[in-house]
Amino acid sequence: MGRQYDLIAIGGGSGGLAVAEKAAQYGKSVAVVDSEKLGGTCVNYGCVPKKVMWHAANLAHAVDDASGFGIPTRREDTDWLKLIRGRDAYIGGINDYWEGYVTDSGITHIQGKARFIDSGRIEVEGVTYTAEHIVIATGGRPIIPPVPGAELGIDSDGFFQLSQQPKRVAIIGGGYIGAELAGMLRALGSDVTLVALEERVLQAFDVMLGEVLMREMDQQGITLKTSFRVASLAKTSEGIVLESSSAERLVGFDQVIWAVGRAPNTRELNLQAAGVETLSNGTVATDEYQNTNVAGIYAIGDIAGRSPLTPVAIAAGRRLAERLFGGMPSRKVDYENIPSVVFTHPPVGTVGLTEQQARERHADVIVYQTEFSPMRYALAAYKTTTAMKLICAGSQQRVVGIHLIGDSVDEMLQGFAVAVKMGATKADFDDTIAIHPVSAEELVTLKRAEPAPVEHQVIETEVAWKMVG
Ligand SMILES: Cc1cc2nc3c(=O)[nH]c(=O)nc-3n(C[C@H](O)[C@H](O)[C@H](O)COP(=O)(O)OP(=O)(O)OC[C@H]3O[C@@H](n4cnc5c(N)ncnc54)[C@H](O)[C@@H]3O)c2cc1C
Repeated sequence: MGRQYDLIAIGGGSGGLAVAEKAAQYGKSVAVVDSEKLGGTCVNYGCVPKKVMWHAANLAHAVDDASGFGIPTRREDTDWLKLIRGRDAYIGGINDYWEGYVTDSGITHIQGKARFIDSGRIEVEGVTYTAEHIVIATGGRPIIPPVPGAELGIDSDGFFQLSQQPKRVAIIGGGYIGAELAGMLRALGSDVTLVALEERVLQAFDVMLGEVLMREMDQQGITLKTSFRVASLAKTSEGIVLESSSAERLVGFDQVIWAVGRAPNTRELNLQAAGVETLSNGTVATDEYQNTNVAGIYAIGDIAGRSPLTPVAIAAGRRLAERLFGGMPSRKVDYENIPSVVFTHPPVGTVGLTEQQARERHADVIVYQTEFSPMRYALAAYKTTTAMKLICAGSQQRVVGIHLIGDSVDEMLQGFAVAVKMGATKADFDDTIAIHPVSAEELVTLKRAEPAPVEHQVIETEVAWKMVG
C-alpha cells in the first residue's frame, strides 16, 4: 500500500509540475507520477529541442546573409551530431533541474505509469496511492495514421532522436509542427518537401500568415505539395515513395516525418474505473475550472483539449492549486486572447481573432495591413518579408486581433498581447510613440494611406496601404 496525498498529478509535464509546485507551496502533501524524465513534451520532445534547432537554423540563415554586409563567411555542412549532442545535454540539465526542484520542494516523484482504480485511488507499478485531489495532466502523443507503409515514417518524437541529418525529407502535415520542422531542416541544408492536406499551410491561422509563409518557403527552396492526401508509403530503389489518394507520387526520400496531429494520452489511464467522461476527440471533458464530471478529479493542459500550449498548461495548473488551496474560489484560466508563436522561418505570431472570426462576430471591422522587407535584409541577397495585420472592431475600434509574420515577431508579440488583453483601441496604438528603426514600429503607425518608412522598403505598396472597411 502506497501513501495518501492531498494532491497527485498524473503526468510530470508543464501542467502536472505547475499544479504540484503550487500545491506544495501551500504546504500540501503532493506527488507527481511520470514514467519518463520530468518536463514532459515541452522539455523532451517539443518547445525546447525545437527552439534550440530553430536557433541553429537562424544562425545558418545569418551566415548566408553575412557576406552582403562585408563579413566573409563560408557555410559548410551542418555538424548534426554536435548540434543534437549539445541540445540533448541542455535538455538533460533541465531534467536534472526538475528532479532536484521536485525533491527540494518535498514533492514525491513516483516513477511509472498511473491508472485509476476508482475515483480516489490510482495504481502505479502495482502500488496503490490515494489522494483527495487527482489531476490528470498526461498530455498527448503524435498520431501516425493507419495507411499502408505508415511505419516507414517517423513522428516528431522520432525526429528529435535522429542521429543523422536527413538528406531528402518529406514532412507530412501543414500545421505548426510540420511547418516548423520544414523551415529548420531546410535552413540546416536538407532537401525538404512539405506535404499538406489543405490548400494552405497554417490553415487554422489568419489567412495572411499561411499565404506569406508559403511564399517564403518557396523562396527558401522548400517544395510545397498542398491538397495532397497521403494514401500510402512504400520503400523502393528510389527511396521512400509517397502516393496520394489521386495516385500522384512523390519519390526519393530518405526520411519521412509525420506531423499530422496529436492524440490525448488517456488509453492507459483506465478512466472508466473512475467514471471520468471524455469528449468525442478523446480529450477529458472539463468545465471552465478544470473540473471533470467526477468530484476531486481535474484535467489540465493538452489532455483537456483547449489551447495545447505550455504556458496554458502551466497557468491552468497554478490556478487550479490557487483555487483548491489558496482561498481563491473563482481562480481560472481565461482562454480568450492567448498569444502564440510558430517558430517557422520567418516566425509567426498571433493573438486574438482571425480576420474571418472578427467579421463573423463584429459589425464595424477595420483591418490594417502592411508588408515590407525589414532593414536587416537591406544588404542581404535574400530578402525576407514581414507582414502585419491589425484587426479592430466596434465603435471604440478595439484591437481584437494581431497577426504577424517576419523577423523578430516571436519576441515582439508578448507586449502587444498585454495591450490586447487590456482592451487597447486603435487610438491607444496611434498614441504610442514608435521606436525607430524597428519593425515593431509599424504596428503603432498603421494609417489609412501612409507609406511605411523608407528603411522598411515596402515591396508591395498597395498591400501596405490596404485597409478593408
Ligand atoms: C514538436 C512540438 C513543439 C511544440 N512547441 C511548442 C512551443 O513552441 N510553445 C508551446 O507553448 N507549446 C509547444 N508545444 C506544445 C507543448 O509541448 C504542450 O502544450 C505541453 O507540453 C502540454 O503540457 P502537458 O502538461 O499538458 O502535457 P505534457 O507536457 O505532454 O506532459 C504529459 C506527461 O504525462 C506523462 N504521462 C502520460 N501518460 C501517463 C500515465 N498514464 N502515467 C503517468 N504519466 C503519464 C508523459 O510521460 C508526459 O511526461 C509543442 C509540442 C510539440 C509536440
